[in-house]
Amino acid sequence: MRPTVLLFDIDGTLVTTAGCGRRALERAFGARYGRSAVLRDVGFDGMTDRAIVRAGLRALGEPSEDSQAEDAIDAVLTDYVPLLVREIAETPEFRLHRGVRELLEATSARAGVAVGLGTGNVRAGARAKLAPLDVLHHFGFGGFGCDHEDRNVIVRLGAERGAAVLGVPVESCRVVVIGDTPRDVAAARAIGAEAIGVGSARFTAEELVASGAARAFADLAGPAVLAALLGDV
Ligand SMILES: [Mg+2]
Repeated sequence: MRPTVLLFDIDGTLVTTAGCGRRALERAFGARYGRSAVLRDVGFDGMTDRAIVRAGLRALGEPSEDSQAEDAIDAVLTDYVPLLVREIAETPEFRLHRGVRELLEATSARAGVAVGLGTGNVRAGARAKLAPLDVLHHFGFGGFGCDHEDRNVIVRLGAERGAAVLGVPVESCRVVVIGDTPRDVAAARAIGAEAIGVGSARFTAEELVASGAARAFADLAGPAVLAALLGDV
């Protein structure tokens, strides 16, 4: 088997967030700018944290493209993380998806497979979402929303870090991005990786295949998903 780097998206792919991230970000904006529902018209699907906050600044009429904006984005995201921890603790609907724990156990036990994250979440936000579900320890590395605003760059960094974990050049690796939106698929294709889609309420498995995923499944449960991730099919 070729050395394999698996990069999992988080929101909608591994977990149902039940709006925790959106509520925490709204609270962070509210505390800093005194306005509510700043993100009302901002879609979160496949978006990176920095891009979401930048859209919020734009909605507020604040500078959103200069160096002042970068500082403002950092400040909102710093405020956001403890609010996210609280939202998750108060939201019983926040949960791990069916089959995920078993899939992570099976893949992370395989020699020659590096299990990581390819996510628009900042690293601290990813930790806040995965630690309470007791799956954080499966992810030794990742590309994160604090690395870059562009998802393509995030998954490229994740792929390089996974290859480093395996001790091989990234060019010799099979890289697989597992995600629930066409943006995950597009990022995978942009770096020459394989995309495996997970259907959700927003996008069906068929729509993810139509957007360019090599395979897509209704959820991550079952032997066919494991085989697809390991390239055994
Ligand atoms: Mg997602």
